[in-house]
Amino acid sequence: MSSPATILAAPDVTTLRVGILYTGGTFGMVDRGDGLHPRSGIDDEITEVVEDFAAATGIDVVVRYTEFDDVIDSANADPATACRIAARVRADLGSTAPDGVIVIHGTDTMAYAGARIAFELHDVEVPVVLTGAQIPLGHVGSDARDNLFLALNSIAAQPGPGTFIAFGTALHPAVRASKRSCDGYDGFATLCELTPPAARPAIPAPRDLRETPAPVGLFAVFPGVDIDLLDAALRIYHGGVVLECYGSGTMPLDGGRTVEAIRRATRRGTPVVVITHCDSGAVDLGRYQPGRAMLEAGVIGGADLTRETALAKLAYLTGLGLTGSELHRWMTTNLLGEISNSLAHQ
Ligand code: ASP
Repeated sequence: MSSPATILAAPDVTTLRVGILYTGGTFGMVDRGDGLHPRSGIDDEITEVVEDFAAATGIDVVVRYTEFDDVIDSANADPATACRIAARVRADLGSTAPDGVIVIHGTDTMAYAGARIAFELHDVEVPVVLTGAQIPLGHVGSDARDNLFLALNSIAAQPGPGTFIAFGTALHPAVRASKRSCDGYDGFATLCELTPPAARPAIPAPRDLRETPAPVGLFAVFPGVDIDLLDAALRIYHGGVVLECYGSGTMPLDGGRTVEAIRRATRRGTPVVVITHCDSGAVDLGRYQPGRAMLEAGVIGGADLTRETALAKLAYLTGLGLTGSELHRWMTTNLLGEISNSLAHQ
């Protein structure tokens, strides 16, 4: 694991214009007797926290606050949710030109959403900072207020463009972050240092698609995995599958059935991206025989992409209409710092 970016203390700014979009999550939840539920209408509480931040820092904060009509537990997020958030942020940026935007989001899928938002908003010039909480606002021991302070302070520290997760004591680059604790105040980790490309590649413009993009999914291997299950996943998520393998990219070959299932999928046009379940290191498909067999069956090596970012990037690029060798090239190109430069397509 790598250390996250340090947030500059006491930034030299006197005014801050911030958009805050509340989408749900524990941050604003309430217990109605049967467990925590999302709650809407937290604008007064947010105003109070922002006023406290302004008083503590001496920064004059101007906030434009909005909420989703249907605030959710982020466990209910679907692939469209992050795109919807990105579209809302983009629309708000156009109309209000803030110094940055804060998205309050559930922590369970925050890293997935953050990665997707990072690709969707790769051309945006201000920071987009996701935050949330392990304990709801106003509850004993809540981290909601501190995390919102951190998000505001992160924008005041002017980290430059990009999508980040502000949580606990750290600001994590979204494309390298992962939730690593269900209850710890520092619930997220930066799995690998952000490695921005020397020059920002010109990400292709969306093709003129007649159909909605096919579903993209994630499949994790485990000892005893039934290859019929993998075969089913490759058919259901025919838009593309991130295959989370062991170590440097291995999995049970099941007497050749694994490679056959993968080859059938890649021939049908379903891209398969291999990542590692390890928190550090990278996929090296040439190292072991199973990896080589998968390479021959047409998989794409996912280098050191995190699970969340691999899924977001594959969905984003296939959503643009990229296929075949072109998809392979862009999937292995370092677009935002999500792949180490030494491992990326040059
Ligand atoms: N289940 C909650 C959510 O992701 C957890 C959280 O926000 O911490 O919406």
